[in-house]
Amino acid sequence: MPDSAPPGHRSRAARALTSLPLVLLLASCSGSPGPAPGEDPTATLPLPGPDDGSSGTEERGEPGDAAPSTGPVGDGPLGGRVVVIDPGHNGGNAEAPSEINELVPAGQHEKACDTVGAQTASGYAEHEFNWEVSLLVREKLEADGATVVLTRQDNESVGPCIDERAGIGNEAGADASVSIHADGGPESGRGFHVILPGEVEGYTDDITDESRVLAEDLHREYLDGSGIPYADYLADGGFDERTDLGGLNMSDVPKVFLEMGNMRNAEDAALMEDPEWREQAASAVARGLAVYLLRN
Ligand SMILES: [Zn+2]
Repeated sequence: MPDSAPPGHRSRAARALTSLPLVLLLASCSGSPGPAPGEDPTATLPLPGPDDGSSGTEERGEPGDAAPSTGPVGDGPLGGRVVVIDPGHNGGNAEAPSEINELVPAGQHEKACDTVGAQTASGYAEHEFNWEVSLLVREKLEADGATVVLTRQDNESVGPCIDERAGIGNEAGADASVSIHADGGPESGRGFHVILPGEVEGYTDDITDESRVLAEDLHREYLDGSGIPYADYLADGGFDERTDLGGLNMSDVPKVFLEMGNMRNAEDAALMEDPEWREQAASAVARGLAVYLLRN
């Protein structure tokens, strides 16, 4: 079922982000309507492969593969703001096990550089989904003047590693950073969730409060705009606070992971494989980031 989102959602989401003030107004009064089937925050299943949205590589590919920037950067309501978008995993990871299994700093422990990521039953890979959505989010934020930095420049390389991805956000002095992912949960469970940093002494103390605000803004706008419910198979109402992810622990700027759906669930997968839905979902992500940025 390639197209299950209600038309109302579609037309709203299709609006250009340049209608931000209006969208903000709506967002601020709308609370969190929308489907919320995940009333049963069951459990903490062992995550299918630490979806530690990061991957790393020394060679970060050529920028040529990326969609052209839509500038003019700096002109618009988000002018002067810096956003780092981290498309989880990478297309070359599967062929480079020694590189992606290498341990890197992840906070008070070490963790593998990256993982391969999930895929749908039909073989649509998470790294590709993450990449496509990230380009769309970048386009929408740049149209409103933000400066957007991606942590990888193509979908064929390896990595970069999780610590390096966080480092890119730090070096950019990002006002906000988001790792774009999709989960590989049980077929019976569906929905999105936002992962936010828990307290890790000496690591996340400086970002937990702001990251929670960012998580709430993204959660609300994504729930409202994507037509996808929050997860019914893990997390708590679509929020999952974690202390084991290097991509969060190594960040010095407000950062969250957005797991945009469950690729192993047929209903979620049908949405994720639909380019029109990805456009709609990316608009919701961009709005969540914009709402957050305009708070400060
Ligand atoms: Zn992932």
